Amino acid sequence: MVIDCHTHLDDDGRAEKLLRSMDDAEIDASIVIAETLPGDISNAGQVLEAVRQSDRLWAIINCVFSKTVELKYVEELTQLLHEDRIVGLKFYLGYEEYSANDERLHQLYEYCEKYDVPIMFHTGVLETGSTGLLEYSHPLQVDRVATRFPNLTIVMAHMGNPWLIDCAAVLAKNQNVYADMSAFFAENRSITAHDVEVFKQRMEQVRVFLYSYEKFLFGTDYPLYSQKEYLGAVEALEMEQAEHEAVMHANAARVFGITTS
Ligand SMILES: [Zn+2]
Repeated sequence: MVIDCHTHLDDDGRAEKLLRSMDDAEIDASIVIAETLPGDISNAGQVLEAVRQSDRLWAIINCVFSKTVELKYVEELTQLLHEDRIVGLKFYLGYEEYSANDERLHQLYEYCEKYDVPIMFHTGVLETGSTGLLEYSHPLQVDRVATRFPNLTIVMAHMGNPWLIDCAAVLAKNQNVYADMSAFFAENRSITAHDVEVFKQRMEQVRVFLYSYEKFLFGTDYPLYSQKEYLGAVEALEMEQAEHEAVMHANAARVFGITTS
């Protein structure tokens, strides 16, 4: 069983290609994450439509920070989180100028803590030319939220790459924090044997520090990557049986409450 906890819709706003890619890579389930498009518009509507058409897809809805000042927006967002196939809320740290610890977000965090809604933070690099700020997407941003809301389940997207060891320190300290392995490689090209070697070396440093990958989740960031190639790279990591199960599906199933038949 394999769950990809980090994918997006294709440019056509649909999930057909993703489903074919999953068949090809033998991935059982994927979580599709809504994004913020130019003009602070969310593609959550398209994501919802796509995941409703397949019992192999689940959705994470994005929070557009600039809109959280409107009570109506927060109400709409929390209303959406009641929907069956929506399994979490994502904050794109760095892309919008706000700290993960901004008090205006505490109400949402409390809501998620109370109703067991896991949240995902973008952590790590920002796109070349982005007007966002790296100080807000550094993994240490997550520590204060995790400490203040100990019952809030948090997933750090991309392991804070390139700050993998900083991410590992946050994982080691906070029981409620996990990390997904997505988007480690250069985007929109094949993952080479050399890439896999570098990945193995850098991940091994993380494992030496944490003793295991038990707090990591398999994720790709499809369509920026081939799911099949990405799965091959993660399969190349040295893992005990229990870690392998945790990474490939058990953590995602537990954190996001995904049940597959
Ligand atoms: Zn992504």
